[in-house]
Amino acid sequence: MKEVDVGDLVRVPLCTDVIDCGCFFCSGDSNGIGFVLSPAELNMWYVMFDIGEWKCYDHELEIISGNA
Ligand SMILES: [Zn+2]
Repeated sequence: MKEVDVGDLVRVPLCTDVIDCGCFFCSGDSNGIGFVLSPAELNMWYVMFDIGEWKCYDHELEIISGNA
């Protein structure tokens, strides 16, 4: 399985089981799709989503399409 890398198009699973969830993605009405900008600490990545930049763990990210 390919690992997350800079430049990948990724998706985070949206919260469908929580009503009025206040998380970053729900409160911003994001589509959960983003672009990996750079590595962050602790196996995390900076990802630019439609509603702005956010830090995600690599295990939270599903790769839609990658560079290599
Ligand atoms: Zn949420």
